[in-house]
Amino acid sequence: MVNIPGYRASRDAFRVRTPMRCPICEGELRNVLVRDLGGVTADIVWQLHAGECPEHGWFQTEVVSRPPREIFPVTKPFGAARRLVVEGQEFFSFSTVWNDLPPQERRKPVDPLDAKYWRRRPLSRS
Ligand SMILES: [Zn+2]
Repeated sequence: MVNIPGYRASRDAFRVRTPMRCPICEGELRNVLVRDLGGVTADIVWQLHAGECPEHGWFQTEVVSRPPREIFPVTKPFGAARRLVVEGQEFFSFSTVWNDLPPQERRKPVDPLDAKYWRRRPLSRS
Protein backbone atom coordinates (compact mmCIF):
# COMPACT_ATOMS: atom_id res chain seq x y z
CA MET A 1 0.00 0.00 0.00
CA VAL A 2 1.35 3.37 -0.93
CA ASN A 3 0.12 6.24 1.16
CA ILE A 4 1.25 9.75 0.49
CA PRO A 5 0.48 12.24 3.23
CA GLY A 6 0.36 15.84 2.12
CA TYR A 7 -0.88 15.02 -1.34
CA ARG A 8 -0.68 18.01 -3.61
CA ALA A 9 -2.13 17.77 -7.06
CA SER A 10 -0.04 20.68 -8.26
CA ARG A 11 3.04 18.57 -7.69
CA ASP A 12 2.02 15.95 -10.19
CA ALA A 13 3.38 16.39 -13.66
CA PHE A 14 2.97 14.41 -16.79
CA ARG A 15 6.41 14.01 -18.19
CA VAL A 16 7.49 12.69 -21.49
CA ARG A 17 10.11 10.46 -19.97
CA THR A 18 10.98 8.27 -17.06
CA PRO A 19 13.90 5.87 -16.85
CA MET A 20 11.42 3.29 -15.62
CA ARG A 21 10.47 0.47 -17.99
CA CYS A 22 7.96 -2.27 -17.62
CA PRO A 23 9.72 -4.83 -15.40
CA ILE A 24 8.06 -7.67 -17.30
CA CYS A 25 8.57 -6.85 -20.95
CA GLU A 26 10.98 -3.90 -20.59
CA GLY A 27 8.69 -1.92 -22.85
CA GLU A 28 8.27 1.81 -22.59
CA LEU A 29 5.58 3.00 -20.22
CA ARG A 30 2.80 5.30 -21.26
CA ASN A 31 0.84 7.86 -19.24
CA VAL A 32 3.98 8.60 -17.27
CA LEU A 33 3.35 10.61 -14.15
CA VAL A 34 6.00 12.11 -11.91
CA ARG A 35 5.13 13.41 -8.49
CA ASP A 36 7.71 15.78 -7.13
CA LEU A 37 7.82 15.41 -3.36
CA GLY A 38 10.54 17.99 -3.07
CA GLY A 39 13.66 17.84 -1.00
CA VAL A 40 14.85 19.78 1.95
CA THR A 41 17.48 21.25 -0.31
CA ALA A 42 17.54 21.72 -4.05
CA ASP A 43 20.08 18.98 -4.67
CA ILE A 44 17.87 16.29 -3.22
CA VAL A 45 15.75 14.56 -5.82
CA TRP A 46 12.64 13.08 -4.29
CA GLN A 47 10.08 11.87 -6.78
CA LEU A 48 7.51 9.21 -7.36
CA HIS A 49 7.38 7.86 -10.88
CA ALA A 50 4.40 5.98 -12.27
CA GLY A 51 3.68 4.65 -15.72
CA GLU A 52 1.52 2.14 -17.48
CA CYS A 53 2.50 -0.79 -19.65
CA PRO A 54 -0.35 -1.48 -22.10
CA GLU A 55 0.03 -5.17 -21.38
CA HIS A 56 1.15 -5.42 -17.77
CA GLY A 57 -0.50 -2.48 -16.07
CA TRP A 58 0.73 0.24 -13.77
CA PHE A 59 4.10 0.40 -12.08
CA GLN A 60 5.66 2.89 -9.77
CA THR A 61 8.81 3.61 -7.87
CA GLU A 62 10.31 6.20 -5.58
CA VAL A 63 13.50 8.14 -6.17
CA VAL A 64 15.24 9.63 -3.17
CA SER A 65 18.51 11.01 -4.54
CA ARG A 66 19.49 7.50 -5.58
CA PRO A 67 18.22 5.19 -8.29
CA PRO A 68 15.34 3.05 -7.06
CA ARG A 69 16.03 -0.37 -5.62
CA GLU A 70 12.61 -1.70 -6.48
CA ILE A 71 9.77 -1.17 -8.91
CA PHE A 72 6.27 -1.99 -7.72
CA PRO A 73 3.19 -3.10 -9.61
CA VAL A 74 0.25 -0.95 -8.54
CA THR A 75 -3.46 -0.80 -9.26
CA LYS A 76 -3.27 2.80 -10.53
CA PRO A 77 -0.78 5.68 -10.39
CA PHE A 78 0.31 6.07 -6.77
CA GLY A 79 -2.25 3.43 -5.84
CA ALA A 80 -2.18 0.22 -3.87
CA ALA A 81 0.38 -2.47 -4.52
CA ARG A 82 -0.82 -5.40 -6.54
CA ARG A 83 0.43 -8.91 -7.12
CA LEU A 84 1.80 -9.96 -10.46
CA VAL A 85 2.27 -13.54 -11.54
CA VAL A 86 5.12 -14.06 -13.96
CA GLU A 87 5.91 -17.52 -15.19
CA GLY A 88 4.03 -19.02 -12.28
CA GLN A 89 5.84 -16.93 -9.69
CA GLU A 90 4.27 -14.18 -7.60
CA PHE A 91 5.85 -10.76 -7.49
CA PHE A 92 4.99 -7.75 -5.38
CA SER A 93 8.11 -5.90 -6.47
CA PHE A 94 10.96 -6.13 -8.91
CA SER A 95 14.46 -5.27 -7.81
CA THR A 96 16.74 -3.24 -10.02
CA VAL A 97 20.38 -3.71 -10.93
CA TRP A 98 21.17 -0.85 -8.57
CA ASN A 99 21.14 -3.50 -5.84
CA ASP A 100 23.98 -5.33 -7.54
CA LEU A 101 26.42 -2.46 -7.27
CA PRO A 102 29.04 -2.82 -4.58
CA PRO A 103 28.43 -0.47 -1.62
CA GLN A 104 31.43 1.72 -2.45
CA GLU A 105 29.98 2.24 -5.94
CA ARG A 106 26.58 3.09 -4.53
CA ARG A 107 28.06 5.78 -2.33
CA LYS A 108 29.53 7.66 -5.28
CA PRO A 109 27.52 10.54 -6.66
CA VAL A 110 25.31 9.27 -9.47
CA ASP A 111 22.47 10.62 -11.51
CA PRO A 112 19.47 8.96 -9.87
CA LEU A 113 17.64 9.16 -13.19
CA ASP A 114 20.32 7.32 -15.13
CA ALA A 115 18.39 4.55 -16.87
CA LYS A 116 21.17 2.00 -16.60
CA TYR A 117 20.53 1.65 -12.86
CA TRP A 118 16.79 1.23 -13.35
CA ARG A 119 16.91 -2.02 -15.28
CA ARG A 120 15.47 -4.90 -13.39
CA ARG A 121 17.42 -7.87 -12.30
CA PRO A 122 16.70 -11.17 -14.03
CA LEU A 123 13.50 -12.66 -12.68
CA SER A 124 14.89 -16.12 -12.06
CA ARG A 125 15.58 -16.66 -8.41
CA SER A 126 17.36 -19.68 -7.11
ZN1 LIG B 1 4.98 -4.84 -20.03
